[in-house]
This record gives sequence, structure tokens and C-alpha cells, in this order.
Amino acid sequence: MQTHLADFIKDTPQGQEADAILRKCVHCGFCLATCPTYNLLGDELDSPRGRIYLMKQMLEGAPVTAKTQLHLDRCLTCRSCETTCPSGVQYGRLVDIGREIVESKVQRGAIDRLKRSLLKKVLPQTGLFRLGLGAGRTFKPLLPTALAKKIPAKRDAGAWPAPRHARKMLVLAGCVQPAMGPNINTATARVLDALGISLMVAPSAGCCGAIPQHLNDPHQAEAFMKRNIDAWWPAIEAGAEAIVVTASGCGTMVAEYGHALRNNVAYAAKAARVTALFRDISQVIAHEKIALANKLSERSGPKQKLAFHSPCSLQHGLRIKGVVEDLLRAAGYELTPVPDGHLCCGSAGTYSLLQAELSQQLLSNKVKALESGAPQMIATANIGCLAHIESGLNASSQTPIRHWIELIDMKLLQ
Ligand code: SF4
Ligand code: SF4
Repeated sequence: MQTHLADFIKDTPQGQEADAILRKCVHCGFCLATCPTYNLLGDELDSPRGRIYLMKQMLEGAPVTAKTQLHLDRCLTCRSCETTCPSGVQYGRLVDIGREIVESKVQRGAIDRLKRSLLKKVLPQTGLFRLGLGAGRTFKPLLPTALAKKIPAKRDAGAWPAPRHARKMLVLAGCVQPAMGPNINTATARVLDALGISLMVAPSAGCCGAIPQHLNDPHQAEAFMKRNIDAWWPAIEAGAEAIVVTASGCGTMVAEYGHALRNNVAYAAKAARVTALFRDISQVIAHEKIALANKLSERSGPKQKLAFHSPCSLQHGLRIKGVVEDLLRAAGYELTPVPDGHLCCGSAGTYSLLQAELSQQLLSNKVKALESGAPQMIATANIGCLAHIESGLNASSQTPIRHWIELIDMKLLQ
């Protein structure tokens, strides 16, 4: 597509990046078929191609309105369109740039601003979030059903093995995961310990930056990235083999540190190193699959039927497909079919809180798809999806949902 970017943006790094992305789009419309919001709303402006047009007009100097903001807000950033696009349009990067510009030009209403600033304050701070979650659990019976369903049951963390191996890896603790799913990283530590790797946490690392990024605050996102790099650097210099991330949503962010900080003189090289060391937990376990198979061969038992929800961040963001499914099959689970597995569950970072209606429609479709094969359990790879799907599971069906690494841990403990 031909572009003529406006003076305010054309000579900036953002403008040049956006221009290169826009020029790749050939308007073919293949991406429409796999866009969840276009599927639900049937409006071209709620499709990737329509949003690309809106962003092009904006970057070419057309007035930016609340309508532009609305259609960009409705995008889940699921990046399903990127997987489908035959021309390699990096829609996710473009929409980040587009949203930052809209945010600077269109004032949001007071309630929306308050909601977003609360989310930005509470979610990235584990202590504050844990406090809120605890209060929510205490008063759950008094809360409206829609809100009460969003509060997950308390889970025990289990034990973290003492460091005893020469092989060491860092793990991102994250922000909401330690409060909502404390067993996920301890299960990871136990599985890796069994495979001869000690897992370490850098205490001063925290939110990966995805939450402020979702809320169109790239400056706070950058501050979080730098803080994490500083926190991890001593262990990296001491020889940590990898930076493991167990929430695929956070993984897509850490994988981008090198790109996001490429123009920062002080951090560019360190950020590139962090990106090179980043591994989704599925990549680490797949690399150790022979050792894992040896460990699991000592265990046996009846096959359990399992539905796996592959988060958009795993399949579209990180382009990791089929890896977790293979590991789960190798561990003795029978995977049930999940129709429309490429479609988002509606969690999408803070989307479920900011676009509740669309999010609930996607959730209801996803739960039906996951339960269609009558699984005994559901597994996923991202804490946001896990909590969101759990809130939509029919209480009477009582199908438990876990992070897949917890299921591998359970097999090793059998
Ligand atoms: S990121 Fe997802 S919701 Fe947004 S345009 Fe692409 S496919 Fe549609
Ligand atoms: S599939 Fe790619 S090239 Fe075709 S309209 Fe969508 S973004 Fe543009």
C-alpha cells in the first residue's frame, strides 16, 4: 500500500517502522476470516484491514477521533491476523504505535481514565494485587455474581527446591501470577530440578511491562523493562542459561525487550541479550524431553482426557505451535479436539475488564469449544487465560483448569 506519512511522525523511529509495516499490506483481506472481533461484529473497522486503514489515515495526518479510539480499543491484540497474513504485516507493532498516538490526541472520559489508572497502579504490584484478591475472596459471597466469578480460589504454592545444580536458569516471577497461581512457578522449579536445572528468581524483578503496554503507557512499560534487566543482569553475568517465562503473555513482552530498547544507548545491548536468553517454558522442556521421558517412564496410570487452550500469545505472538500438546501427549494425557483453537478466549491482558461484553462472548464460545470433547481437565499456558476461562467454566461441570507445567509436575510426583 502506498503511504505519505505526515510531518509530525514521518522522520521518527516510530514513523519509519509504521511506514514499513503499512507498505507490506496489500489489502487482500485474508486476515478478516481469523479476526475474533470481525467474526463477532462483522464491521470492516473491527477487522485488521479496517484498523490498518484507520491507522494509515491517522499517520497521514487525518483527524483522530473517538471512533478511531473505539475500534483500536476493541482489538484484542491477539495477533491472529499476523499468523494469517501472507505478506508478513506486523500488525501487533503497528497497533502499539497507533494506540500511543490516539492516546495522545483523544481525551478519554473520566470513568475510563480512572479505571485505566487503577489497573495500571494495582495489577503490576503483586503486594497490592494480593491484598485486593484476599479482600475479594473474603467478601466473595457479597459480590455481584459477575464479579465473584472472576475471583479464583486460593491455591497453595507447594515447595521450591533448594538450588543444587550447576545448570541455572532465571524465571520471571511476574506480577499477578504469584498471587493468582503461585504453584505455576514452583511446579516449574520442581520439574526443572528433576531435569538437573536449578531455577532462580531475581527478587527485584517484577511486571514484564505488558500491563502498561496494554494500557497504552509505553513509558511505564520501558521503566519496567529496564528494572527487570537491572535485576537479572548479575545472574546473567554469572552464567544463567536462560530467562524462563511461564506466562506466554509475559513471554511475548520479554521477547520484545531487544526491539523496544534498540535505540537506548545504555540498555540496547543488555536488552538484546535478555531477548536472546528468553525461553518460554515449553521451549525449555522440549529441549529436555528425552530426560523428561526417562523420568516419566517410571510412572504409569490411566490416560486422562485433556483439552489444551493454546493462548494467542503462545501460538500467534511467540509462534510456538504444537509443542505443549506434544509434551502433554508424551506425559500420558489424551488430548481432546478443540474447535476454533486459533481464536482468542477474550482475556487479552486487561481486555476482559475494559471490553467486558465482547470478552464474555469470546469466553462463552471458548468454554463450549474446550468442553466439547468432554475432557476431565483443561490446561493452558498463560495465567490471564487460565483465570478468565476458569471464571467461565460452568460450576456444575467442575472441569478443573491448570497451567500445563503443573500437570507435568503432578505426573512426576505420582
Ligand atoms: S490482533 Fe486480533 S482482534 Fe486485533 S485485528 Fe488482529 S486478529 Fe483482530
Ligand atoms: S492479510 Fe495481511 S496483507 Fe492482507 S489485508 Fe490483512 S494485513 Fe493486509
